[in-house]
Amino acid sequence: MPYKGEVAGKGGHSDFVRNPDVAEFLAECDYMKEPGEAEAKAMASSFSSAPTENGSALPRFVVASDASKSDTPISDRLPSTQVGFVKVSQVLIGMEKYGELIDPNTRFVDPFKVAEMHRNASAITYTLPGSNVRFQGAKSVKDGFRRAVFKQLNANRSQGENKLILVNTLMTLCNGEIEIEKCPSCSEQFTFKFSADQLEATCGQCSEPVFITDWLRIHEDVSDFGNNTSAITRLMNVVEHLLLITLIDQVFNANLRALASMAFVMDGPLALFGQPAKLHAKIMAYLHRVNSRLASLSLDPLLVVGLQKTGEVMDHANLLNRFLPAGVLRVIDDEYRYKYIKGSNEQGGNFGSETYYGQDFLFKTERGRIFTFAVPYPFRDKTNSDKAFARQKADLSEYGNSISRACDLIRHFELNLYESAVVPVALAHRHASISIVPGGKVLDIITKTGLKTDSI
Ligand SMILES: [Zn+2]
Repeated sequence: MPYKGEVAGKGGHSDFVRNPDVAEFLAECDYMKEPGEAEAKAMASSFSSAPTENGSALPRFVVASDASKSDTPISDRLPSTQVGFVKVSQVLIGMEKYGELIDPNTRFVDPFKVAEMHRNASAITYTLPGSNVRFQGAKSVKDGFRRAVFKQLNANRSQGENKLILVNTLMTLCNGEIEIEKCPSCSEQFTFKFSADQLEATCGQCSEPVFITDWLRIHEDVSDFGNNTSAITRLMNVVEHLLLITLIDQVFNANLRALASMAFVMDGPLALFGQPAKLHAKIMAYLHRVNSRLASLSLDPLLVVGLQKTGEVMDHANLLNRFLPAGVLRVIDDEYRYKYIKGSNEQGGNFGSETYYGQDFLFKTERGRIFTFAVPYPFRDKTNSDKAFARQKADLSEYGNSISRACDLIRHFELNLYESAVVPVALAHRHASISIVPGGKVLDIITKTGLKTDSI
């Protein structure tokens, strides 16, 4: 995803909104507006001093990821015949090595050292059929897409000893059992059961293969004639979150104590949208399970941070920024979100009920940069009523030291190069990675070395 200011936006935007027809239409719409002086001050007064652990709880290792996607014509002469691909870059940063990257005087990253890393960079790529492409002789673009999703997610993407197979991670998240209620090809009602030994089935009605990955329902956005952009975006979302859990699970199994000294930073909210959204609840339950184990050893919860560079919360943050003093934080509870960010008076039951597994916060650092970050909800599920959960998730005392640790992480890595960016994500964004050659190398490094600083 591009950073704000990275690509200069062009286009006659102001001409467009001055068009009287458009202006008349907008007058009838509710949307986010720049707050007036008094309103902005009221909002700002609801922020409080940002917490800190005074650097004592910084992780020893940070894994950051960033994803991008594309639909590309397979030839200039066939612009509507496309392949889609999703690329996720992961970078592992040892805190001690990080010190060498930064010029202490300017707090800029040394470009020569970054370039050095860039030469070793690699990313994991998943390729999918785009519009007008039928994969492996499938009878429709959609059936071919399902087949490709399965083949890609079931392939081992690591060249090291540790396998990196996202289907295995999906199984872990679903406790080894996945069921699909109807055939994804002919829609006949039938229960298909999948397990580690049974990743494929055949529909008794249409004889089409049914895959374990059909549970994600990503193919439902695919049509024979339209483009598959939306499905590929959903797949990107799924892959990024599954890769995060894959890394966490590998460390969890190899060296549980090491997890407490790591942080995982990803681009975007801690949420999954659209057809695969139900995966969010599995991730929430999994992270809770990991944290319960860590708590049983009196260790801090796993630090997972979602950083949003763009989107409506960030737009709001940028509008409010000049009214905020440095070093403040606010939880984006539902009341605040609906009132000030959604531009609506409507109070939904629980914002993100079907999609979010983490809570958003607004944070203005002591250096004056503004961030929107999320940390996972510290609960196993959302079985409480919507209203009760909406209250529970906004109660800062539920989060232990996760919020202050997230703030410290952002403070430590805030970067002069871009707004709302921290170094690890910026590095991942540039597909730069440290000591990473083939896909999945991050996983091998962190599990094989037992997380010794000098080996990274
Ligand atoms: Zn069928």
